[in-house]
Amino acid sequence: MGPHAPPPGRVHSFQACPPVSALPQTSDAPHPLQILQEVWGYPDFRGPQGDIVEHVIDGGDALVLMPTGGGKSLCYQVPAIARQRAGRGVTVVVSPLIALMHDQVGALHEAGVDAAFLNSTLDWNETLDVERRMARAEITLLYAAPERVTTPRFLELLDGLHARGKLSLFAIDEAHCVSQWGHDFRPEYRALTVLHERFASVPRIALTATADALTRADIVERLQLQQARQFVSSFDRPNIQYTIVEKKDATTQLLRFIEREHEDESGVVYCQSRKRVEEVAQALVDAGINALPYHAGLDAAVRQKHQNRFLRDEDAIVMVATIAFGMGIDKPDVRFVAHLDMPKNIEGYYQETGRGGRDGLPAHAWMAYGLQDVVNQRRMIDESPAGEDFKQVMRGKLDALLALAEATDCRRVRLLGYFGEESSPCGNCDNCLNPPQVWDGTDAARKLLSTIYRVQQQSGISFGAGHIMDILRGKSTEKTKQYGHERISTFGIGAEFSEPQLRGVLRQLIATGALNVDAQAFNTLQLTDGSRAVLRGEVPVLLRESVSQPATRGSSRRDKRSGGASKPASAAAAALDATGHKRFEALKAWRTEVAKEHNLPAYVIFHDATLAAIAQRAPATLDDLQGISGIGEKKLAAYGTEVLRVCGDAAR
Ligand code: ADP
Ligand code: ZN
Repeated sequence: MGPHAPPPGRVHSFQACPPVSALPQTSDAPHPLQILQEVWGYPDFRGPQGDIVEHVIDGGDALVLMPTGGGKSLCYQVPAIARQRAGRGVTVVVSPLIALMHDQVGALHEAGVDAAFLNSTLDWNETLDVERRMARAEITLLYAAPERVTTPRFLELLDGLHARGKLSLFAIDEAHCVSQWGHDFRPEYRALTVLHERFASVPRIALTATADALTRADIVERLQLQQARQFVSSFDRPNIQYTIVEKKDATTQLLRFIEREHEDESGVVYCQSRKRVEEVAQALVDAGINALPYHAGLDAAVRQKHQNRFLRDEDAIVMVATIAFGMGIDKPDVRFVAHLDMPKNIEGYYQETGRGGRDGLPAHAWMAYGLQDVVNQRRMIDESPAGEDFKQVMRGKLDALLALAEATDCRRVRLLGYFGEESSPCGNCDNCLNPPQVWDGTDAARKLLSTIYRVQQQSGISFGAGHIMDILRGKSTEKTKQYGHERISTFGIGAEFSEPQLRGVLRQLIATGALNVDAQAFNTLQLTDGSRAVLRGEVPVLLRESVSQPATRGSSRRDKRSGGASKPASAAAAALDATGHKRFEALKAWRTEVAKEHNLPAYVIFHDATLAAIAQRAPATLDDLQGISGIGEKKLAAYGTEVLRVCGDAAR
């Protein structure tokens, strides 16, 4: 058994508490809403959940596109329970994330659902035990990775179930992994077509939080979901505030951002390289922030340990990571996601930023973006071994992200526009909140382009950005003398522009394809077909005025700590009075203990919002706990008495 596998007895032989059902049970087809209330204690389905659940319970295939935090899991978990109760047997959940299966299954156990996983963290006896229980259809939800699901041994197990009418449903999570256009392509997903071919009568539900039109079409084709009904939710995450700043000294900018806006809160910081991850994590630690690195170069055990701390520590952790981190992480209270390097495309950006604010409370998506990002991303595409068609698609996707980064209008309108949704300015992005001063860089752009043209004409070779800017600004250097570039007619005609201004113009020209950077030739600048329109003044070049950094609010974090000021109350508990707060804090401390004992993240026991609702109600009897969102029957039976005791003690 792996070091993080659950203690035996917990996961594999869950003992259901005596039923405490207060809800009327209809014989073989319980209403899905009843299941939601009984098992999760949630009063209602959210958005399209109800429709999806009904469709799947009735045996329809479904493709669900719903943003992170939208509540995808319930879309297959409720049908799995309903169908199991109707005698249809086991639901198989295909998930790529072995490291997270334990917590997912643990959360289902907490809610009183028979669930298990099959993966490499189990030893042989444990595996046999799960297989036996599965064969007897005692398990409602069985989680496994695609490479396991497609083994002959597993397929035979499914054959056996199927023959007895006990193979209920396939749920394919993170379905975008099947597509090479998605940002998490996993070839093993391709083999999942066997499920449809071998068990044509078993319904399938595929779910993803990503999907531009191209990826969506690919999912349908690859997983043969042509018959499936598509449920497409809005991709808007209204509680996420988008901010994209011009990159100067990224690490310092990040530090200021965290100190100003997110002291003592959980967050994720994405960097492109392992080396940067290490450097940035260290810089944050040096500044007194609880930061941990995560990247594929770390030992698997270290990675798992860091992930567990991020998920389980009550102290807020900032995870500094490459994109190897994050898929399937369902921590609800991540308050910010920061990008120090630009992702490859909008799907990646959307997916990564989407990991913030799953609990629906305000969260921040913050990115620092600069010329080097544009150059790097373009180069990575150029140098990739992929075919030209593929590169063309990748370039198109990068361009869309660059346009978002350069935008001076609402970020959300552009983001949603990319996913085919129309919207109006959001009021919750940097450009809406502080409409940027825009300056017209068209003249500067034309002067830059004609300088590049003349230099090329005169010298027969191309030069880099620094030299071109020197010429335009009339700065005499070794190089301008050596090449006779001081005689060029544009020498000094752009003296009124600052270097940062010109850099901004160059960045936008490169971002929009009006200029090319040749990575193979010392990052020299070359004109493109797109240059002409700008030279002729047909395409305006609008840039945001560089704003200076606002000053840091208050004192540094260390001063605050030594001053003994208490932590800001969690957002969920904002409305509580003083004794309510006492109860809330006592409940949190109790939850920490339970979570430790069960080897699960705290939010799996109860969300903050549920604890806050309990604290608010000041319950005296078990009846008082009825109807609080997040307390299902199992949790009421398992924890109700303890919760009453903790609340009572706190009030004394
Ligand atoms: P996704 O997988 O789409 O990112 P999850 O399934 O993890 O989202 O759900 C996000 C959060 O919302 C979870 O904490 C979940 O318990 C909660 N949630 C989902 N559906 C509902 C609902 N109908 N009512 C209340 N909370 C819900
Ligand atoms: Zn906006």
